[in-house]
Amino acid sequence: RASAQKFEFQAEVSRLMDIIINSLYSNKDIFLRELISNASDALDKIRFLALTDKEILGEGDDTKLEIQIKLDKENKIISIRDRGIGMTKEDLIKNLGTIAKSGTSAFVEKMQTGGDLNLIGQFGVGFYSVYLVADYVEVISKHNDDKQYVWESKADGAFAISEDTWNEPLGRGTEIRLHLRDEAKEYLEESKLKELVKKYSEFINFPISLWASKEVDVEVPSDEEESTDEEESSEATTSEEETEEEESEKEPKKKTVKETTYEWEVLNDVKAIWLRSPKEVTDEEYTKFYHSLAKDFGDEKPLSWSHFTAEGDVEFKAVLFVPPKAPHDLYESYYNTKKSNLKLYVRRVFISDEFDELLPKYLNFLMGLVDSDTLPLNVSREMLQQHNSLKTIKKKLIRKALDMIRRIAEEDPDEYSNKDKPEKASEDDGKKGQYSKFWNEFGKSIKLGIIEDAQNRNRLAKLLRFETTKSEGKLVSLDEYISRMKSGQKDIFYLTGTSKEQLEKSPFLERLMKRNYEVIFFTDPVDEYLMQYLMDYEDKKFQNVSKEGLQLGKDSKLKDLKESFKELTDWWKNALSSENVDSVKISNRLDNTPCVVVTSKFGWSSNMEKIMQSQTL
Ligand code: ADP
Ligand code: MG
Repeated sequence: RASAQKFEFQAEVSRLMDIIINSLYSNKDIFLRELISNASDALDKIRFLALTDKEILGEGDDTKLEIQIKLDKENKIISIRDRGIGMTKEDLIKNLGTIAKSGTSAFVEKMQTGGDLNLIGQFGVGFYSVYLVADYVEVISKHNDDKQYVWESKADGAFAISEDTWNEPLGRGTEIRLHLRDEAKEYLEESKLKELVKKYSEFINFPISLWASKEVDVEVPSDEEESTDEEESSEATTSEEETEEEESEKEPKKKTVKETTYEWEVLNDVKAIWLRSPKEVTDEEYTKFYHSLAKDFGDEKPLSWSHFTAEGDVEFKAVLFVPPKAPHDLYESYYNTKKSNLKLYVRRVFISDEFDELLPKYLNFLMGLVDSDTLPLNVSREMLQQHNSLKTIKKKLIRKALDMIRRIAEEDPDEYSNKDKPEKASEDDGKKGQYSKFWNEFGKSIKLGIIEDAQNRNRLAKLLRFETTKSEGKLVSLDEYISRMKSGQKDIFYLTGTSKEQLEKSPFLERLMKRNYEVIFFTDPVDEYLMQYLMDYEDKKFQNVSKEGLQLGKDSKLKDLKESFKELTDWWKNALSSENVDSVKISNRLDNTPCVVVTSKFGWSSNMEKIMQSQTL
C-alpha cells in the first residue's frame, strides 16, 4: 500500500523474530495461548477503565467483553479478535516492534543457548510467537482515542502501518490475522483449535468463542421425481401457502438433508478457580492454574500453594504459589522496580499486577492472586493504593506465605544434602528434597526478609538454612543447631567467609572443634548484612567466632598467662602501632596456630571488608 508508513524493528526484536521464524521448534501451538493471553489483558484493561467511566465501553456489541476466533480455510487465515482496549497508532509502533522490552535480549540469549521457546510469555515478548505459524501477520486495531489502523509485517526486519480504510470498522479492540504457512495448515481445523483453547485457556476469565460449523438437519420440499402425486405437486408449486396447508393435511412431501451452518460456540468455562472451595480443586487444577499465572508451561509443579479465604473486617480470597524456580530476573532488579507477581482483583475484576502494596519486596518470588470484596471498585488505582484495607491484606498474606513455606520444610524433614540432591525431583521422590530446592532458589529472599522485615524476623529466621562444622553436607536450621548445643553453651557460634572449604581451614575453628562445638558457616555475601540484623534467636545471641568476645567457658590459667606475657604483648602493640591494631591480647581461642588477627566486636569482619572492597558503590 502506497500510503503505508514503514518502520524497522528494533535490532533485538528483529533478531528475536529471525530466531522464531527459523525455528524448528515443534510446539508451535503456543502462539494461540499468547494471543489469547494478550486479548485477555486488553479486555482486563478496558474493564478496569469502565469501572470509573461506563461510557468507555460504547454500546451494542462493543460492550461484550469477549474473544472471538474465526478460521478461513480457503485463504489459510486465522483471525483472533477481542473487544479490549485496542491500540492507537503510537501503541502499535511502540508495542509491536520499535521498543524492545527488558526481557527481549535475555530471551534472545536464552534461545541462542538452546532455551525453551515455551517460556516466551515470561519474557514479555509472546506476541512474536505468531511467526512460528504465520509468514505474514496483520494487526487491525481500534482504540477509543484514535482511528483504526493496520500493522503488518512479513518478519523481514520491517513493518508497516496504515490508516485502515478497507476493513470493516471494529468499533473497539484488536483483530489479529495470521496468514498461515503451509506447514501450519493443521490450525485451520476446528477440532485442533478447540483442543488448544481447552488446553491453554482454561483460566481466561472472558468467554472465548469459535465461529464453528455445525451440521444441522433441514427439511426441504422433496423433489418432483419422488412425488407420487404429480398433478398435485405441480399445482402446489404455484402457491407456497397452499402447499403447506395441503401438506400438513396430507402425507408430508418433505425430506431432511444435512446442511452446514456457522455459529459462535463458546469454548471455555469462566468460573474463577479461586472462588471455588479449596476442597473441590484438585492438585492438577492448581498446578495448571499456576502454569497459566506464571506463563510457565513446563511440567514442573509449584513447590507449594495456599488457597484461603480471609474473613472479618477485610474480606478476600487468595491463592499463593511458591514456584519451582526463581524467575530469571528475580534478584537482578531487586532494588529497582521488580514488580510483584501478585494479581489484584476486586470483586472478580482484574485491577493490577503491579501493586507493590500487597507483598513486601522479599516475597516477590511468590505467584498468585488476591480478590477482595472489601476494596472499592469505582476508584482510581492511586486511591486504591492508599486504601486502609491493603495493610490488613498485606499482613495476612505475609503470615500465610510464611506458613506455606514453613510447611514445605515440615513435610520434608528428610532433607537431601547439597551433594546428593537430585537435579530434578522425579515423581516417585514425592515431596522429598522440596525444602532444599526451595532454599537453593529462594534462600536469599528469606535472608533479605530478615534484613527488611523486623516484625517477622523470628518467623523468617526459622526458615534459615546453612551448613555447619557438623552438617556433613546437609542443610541445618537454627532449631536443629540449638537442639545440639553443648550444655553450658550460651551463644550461637558462626563464621563468615567466601566458601565452606576456606572456612574449614580457619584457625578460629581449632579450639571450638576440639571442644566439639558446632559452628555455622555463612558463605553468601548477603550473610554479612544478615548478621547485622539477626542479633539473637530464641534468647541465644549470635557470636562471630572471628570477633573479639568469644567465650567458651571459664579458663583460670588465662589470667596468669596474660600477666606473664604482658611484656610481649605491650612490645608487640608498639611495634605494630595503633594505626594497625587496636590491641594485642592473650586468648584461649587457638589450638595449633600461634596467633591470629581478630576483628573488634563492633568492627567489620575481614569477610565484610572483602565484600565492601569488591563492591562498586
Ligand atoms: P506482553 O503481553 O507480555 O506485554 P506481548 O509480546 O505478548 O508481551 O505483547 C506486547 C504488547 O503488545 C502488549 O504489552 C500490549 O501492549 C500489546 N498488545 C498485544 N496484543 C494486544 C491486544 N490484543 N490488544 C491490545 N494490546 C495488545
Ligand atoms: Mg503477551
